[in-house]
Amino acid sequence: MSESPTTATIGFVGLGHMGGPMVRRLVEAGYRVQVFDVAPEARASAVTAGATDAEDLAAAARGADAVILMLPNSQVVASVLGDDGMVEALAAGTIVIDMSSSEPFKTRELARELASVGVQLVDAPVSGGVTGAQSGKLTIMVGGSEVDVKRIWPVLEKLGKPVHTGPVGSGHAVKALNNLLSATHLWATSEAMVAGQKFGLDPEVMLAVFNGSSGRSGSTENKWPNFILPGTFNSGFGLRLMLKDMKIAVQLAEQSGAPSELGANAVALWERAAEYLSPQADHTEVAEWISSRPH
Ligand code: NAD
Repeated sequence: MSESPTTATIGFVGLGHMGGPMVRRLVEAGYRVQVFDVAPEARASAVTAGATDAEDLAAAARGADAVILMLPNSQVVASVLGDDGMVEALAAGTIVIDMSSSEPFKTRELARELASVGVQLVDAPVSGGVTGAQSGKLTIMVGGSEVDVKRIWPVLEKLGKPVHTGPVGSGHAVKALNNLLSATHLWATSEAMVAGQKFGLDPEVMLAVFNGSSGRSGSTENKWPNFILPGTFNSGFGLRLMLKDMKIAVQLAEQSGAPSELGANAVALWERAAEYLSPQADHTEVAEWISSRPH
């Protein structure tokens, strides 16, 4: 947006683990942020942080220069904009930024539908988790036209480091592929950690070796030391959200003519864990499941 933060208004829908801290950062940067979530407590907490309460989706959209969505999936994104009528309250020329981890093919379709009423869609999913959202250090994968992306770049820079990944849908594609890698690494790391511990190795020693060697990944550098070894399992990223992203990536591979055999097997393994773990389980709880699962 060409406007300075002090004059620009952002509608923001989806104030969960990620949306909550992202709103806080935008308010701190000087934007006027009008927020909506179906959970009243999430809205109340955003208002405490300095956002303006929008009583419904239309109120979040009205007068906004851009609307950010940080919702669970493509279905919710489509219903918020379509069935629930948000798009009718958007002025032509508004940019909708879908920062959720959505499905790239659906994103492209949605972009075409919105363009027909003069609204532009940019996909800008993120990685970096809750801590990245809190510290403004997210990696933001931005799919959209040069013109649209340029307009929203200053807003995105308040939330992290944007990377223009290509046309609309490309951000969602690379995000899903990233999470398929991340989930596969986490499963493989957890199996290695459990086997090593059963052999008698010290887990801290194993992590130090992996992190200085080729077994290193976000799972060895972050997830195991920060959420799994301490037994807190509080990364703030739900297991079911991870599984959703993995399925998007496997479907993308299939539809692109490059099926992922390892990816499909990883989905089957994570699905088995999801059957046993609670619907609210953090994705890092797969490590505990791997160590205690029936063989
Ligand atoms: P979350 O479940 O904590 O938050 C989602 C929010 O959306 C909730 O507050 C919920 O009440 C709200 N919501 C659901 N349906 C709604 C509707 N119809 N109208 C208005 N609000 C609605 O999820 P999250 O962890 O914040 O993740 C959000 C998105 O970001 C997901 O697509 C996820 O895959 C992605 N993501 C999450 C993380 C993470 O670490 N948590 C990291 C990167 C990307």
